[in-house]
Amino acid sequence: MEDIMQELISSLSSDIEYTNYRVIGDKIEIHVRSKRIHANCPVCGTQSSKLDTTYARKVQDLPTLDKKTTLVVHMQSFKCIIPECSRKAFAEEFDFVEPRAKRTKRLDKMIMGISIGASAVKAAEIMKAEGIAEVGKDTVLSLQKKK
Ligand SMILES: [Zn+2]
Repeated sequence: MEDIMQELISSLSSDIEYTNYRVIGDKIEIHVRSKRIHANCPVCGTQSSKLDTTYARKVQDLPTLDKKTTLVVHMQSFKCIIPECSRKAFAEEFDFVEPRAKRTKRLDKMIMGISIGASAVKAAEIMKAEGIAEVGKDTVLSLQKKK
């Protein structure tokens, strides 16, 4: 099981590593942590390894072993080391999720696939019935508009 989890997480990003998982009914929470020791400031581009804080960000992902999956990403924010920079601190970003998004890009892609030719209500119902993800019709609608 540990091997499967590690494999699954490394396929998502080389910047994170698997730490542990927890099954809660029909859901699974997979905890991962950032492997980065530094990141670049989005404003001035300067690399910083000065840690600001660490926090957990929850991101829904594709189902794992038939269970709805939430990644709990233990990530970091760094302090910009340039005193004149307008950004004092910044969170690291990952390729698999848009900034501030609540779902991975690959889950959004699957939702868009399921909602082709279906109403948003129907698509949300299918995803709930099949145990794919907890998304409402509004989420499906906004993804359909993005296409
Ligand atoms: Zn900066």
